[in-house]
Amino acid sequence: MSLIDRDRAHLWHPYAPASPRLPLWEVEDAEGVTLRIMDDDGARHEVVDAMSSWWSAIHGYRNPLLDAAARRQLTRFSHVMFGGLTHEPAVELAERLVAMAPADPSRPALERVFLADSGSVSVEVALKLAVQFQAASGRPRRQRFLALRGGYHGDTTGAMSVCDPVDGMHAAFGGLVDGQVFAPRPPAAATATREGIDTWHDMVAGLARIHADELAGIIAEPVLQGAGGMHAYPPECVRILRDIADRHGLVLILDEIATGFGRTGELFAADHAGVVPDILCVGKALTGGYLTLAAALCTGEIARTVSSAGPLLHGPTFMGNPLACAVANASLGILAAGGWRQDVRRIGEGLACGLAPAKAFDIVADVRTIGAVGVVELAHPVDVPAVTRAAIRRGVWLRPFRNLVYTMPPYVSTAADVERIAAGMIGAISEVHSGIHEGVPA
Ligand SMILES: *Cc1c(COP(=O)(O)O)cnc(C)c1O
Repeated sequence: MSLIDRDRAHLWHPYAPASPRLPLWEVEDAEGVTLRIMDDDGARHEVVDAMSSWWSAIHGYRNPLLDAAARRQLTRFSHVMFGGLTHEPAVELAERLVAMAPADPSRPALERVFLADSGSVSVEVALKLAVQFQAASGRPRRQRFLALRGGYHGDTTGAMSVCDPVDGMHAAFGGLVDGQVFAPRPPAAATATREGIDTWHDMVAGLARIHADELAGIIAEPVLQGAGGMHAYPPECVRILRDIADRHGLVLILDEIATGFGRTGELFAADHAGVVPDILCVGKALTGGYLTLAAALCTGEIARTVSSAGPLLHGPTFMGNPLACAVANASLGILAAGGWRQDVRRIGEGLACGLAPAKAFDIVADVRTIGAVGVVELAHPVDVPAVTRAAIRRGVWLRPFRNLVYTMPPYVSTAADVERIAAGMIGAISEVHSGIHEGVPA
């Protein structure tokens, strides 16, 4: 029996039914930006990972610095409990995160770090922090959140509750996730008008005013909503959220799990807006894609207020995993050297240029780039297995969803890698979808 057949007999995959027909490829090896994969029939392919393993593998596979950091920590200890114990990798990581977080001398600094074991868990911790902060401030009724339509914050219950209520999982889990307040999606960056932004401002401000007594905070992905639709919006809208939060005593949580660590062209997407949140969630690229690790950073004020009333009510078994922290420190060390900015610019320019021809396709509704992210939005749902296969034949690994074919290449991608990715996206889209609608260049 092949490995793929054995997988199909027992494993679940993300957002997938347990199915004997699920398309799957076996990864045999990975190095730099390249995955060596094998399909059902035993055919081998070398593909550029245009997904960075879902935003995470920014420095590429088998990165010598990250490998060395993991090996070094393995010879000391891989894990110890974080209750009552501490270690150098966790302390160094907290110091690094605090030093690089969005900052503004006129605002309280993000100075206290909760290490979580996944992005979703960091969102749970952020929500709990906000609720505990309000309770400790004498406002125990404030337990709901204002979230944006089109948002995505993770798959655990609290995180799900603040995801888009239509495209998210509210229909399946209504009883578990009801109760949040949803504001409209901010206008698209490319087409936003003064009037559109003002209208959006009035709607969000109105909701916040009506619900202020029951809201603990506002949660949003700054500047780019990721899994909810790859929607880029004006930085001014992040400043609007900051102002509204301040006006009503709400905790502003910015979820930078996807956008953090340079992906949008600034170290954090909040930096485009010059906004410092009260709580910042990071994850995905934190360990350069090596191990699962995330963090929720909060201001000293929130930490002190919560702690004046008692403990923060969260503490995962694998909190502060030393191996993950050691690799994260190496990854943040690479970022601190500063080359990421040029890398992101080079990749963004390559994608803008390489994807531009897709604008002429009838089936394409929009083409957009922000930082090192490129998005081709189709006018109808993508045939995901067919586009995936067509891209593999062109040497590119993609994972489209809904009507979106998108890429966020590893920062170590060369101009030639980016060209191959863009050509692979365009080629796969026109091969698979040109038969459906006329007028598409072959
Ligand atoms: C991926 C993601 C999450 C969830 O992170 P996991 O590590 O998958 O739990 C939360 N928020 C955003 C914006 C994300 O992109």
